[in-house]
Amino acid sequence: MILVGIIISGKDIAKEKKEVLKNKVSEYINKYGRAPHLTVILIGEDPGSVSYVKGKSKGCLEVGIKNTTLTYPTTIKEEELLNIIRELNNDNEVDGILVQLPLPSHINSSHVINTISPNKDVDGFHPKNVASLYLKESGILPCTPKGIIEVLESASIEIEGKRACVIGRSNIVGLPVSKLLLDKNATVTIAHSKTKNLKEITSTADILIAAVGKPLFVKEDMVKDGAVVIDVGVNRNPETGKLCGDVDFENVKDKASYITKVPGGIGPMTITCLLENTVECYLKHMEE
Ligand code: NAP
Repeated sequence: MILVGIIISGKDIAKEKKEVLKNKVSEYINKYGRAPHLTVILIGEDPGSVSYVKGKSKGCLEVGIKNTTLTYPTTIKEEELLNIIRELNNDNEVDGILVQLPLPSHINSSHVINTISPNKDVDGFHPKNVASLYLKESGILPCTPKGIIEVLESASIEIEGKRACVIGRSNIVGLPVSKLLLDKNATVTIAHSKTKNLKEITSTADILIAAVGKPLFVKEDMVKDGAVVIDVGVNRNPETGKLCGDVDFENVKDKASYITKVPGGIGPMTITCLLENTVECYLKHMEE
């Protein structure tokens, strides 16, 4: 059967969500007298990190969230950084704190994540927020996994009862998105670098999520006819140097019923979920 995969545009969904958020933020400013405030810490000048941080600032500007970006050289000592975070934790005018990862090797990212107040942890990486996800308690959800579920729901894709396969088991994407799919009553298989016969597993999935970090890794022979394919990867195509996903879009698109594209898929949703998380932290803070 030849299918033509419908492209789900994360960019368009994100745009609509940002419009809704912008109106809400403007109401909140009238009600509480100040805008939500996100502080981003950037260490060093890695081009990828600089570009992600710029995207976050732009998103804040679009919806009326105040954004401060604090930049430090890679020579900053861990204790110095932890003290800056502690000050931000105590700053009543800061609602969300995000430290752009990865960090220089002399800084232990767990120490950094654990120091951010769980109530200001807009990335949802603090152990308390991670535990909330696994215990189904209220907490802050990590942005990319939340964005993936919102993309599926916005496209009215049924999750309950479906077979989902997630390629990747990182703490940032693979594991949390698997848990969210499980909570939506999918039957979930998590594949990783030691998985044997990967194709056999992926090609039985109704929903295939690729979070591998390898350019054009998923080919059509790994995809079930009519599957929903969500590409989380952000890579450079080794031949063209252009941004590409983990899924070979051109090769896979006719086999999928729905598919996301890179760029314009999960990336914009991740930023929108970050903005939503910032507003969530702000509201809790203002309503305390
Ligand atoms: P990661 O920490 O490097 O994890 C990659 C996962 O892929 C690991 O679990 C690894 O298995 C698995 N893997 C590697 N090679 C494999 C293979 N040959 N077969 C099956 N599994 C394999 O990466 P990540 O942080 O989860 O990110 C994944 C991708 O998503 C990257 O491209 C990243 O840039 C992108 N990303 C995008 C966003 C966004 O907003 N769009 C956000 C976050 C990440 P092991 O566990 O066995 O090593």
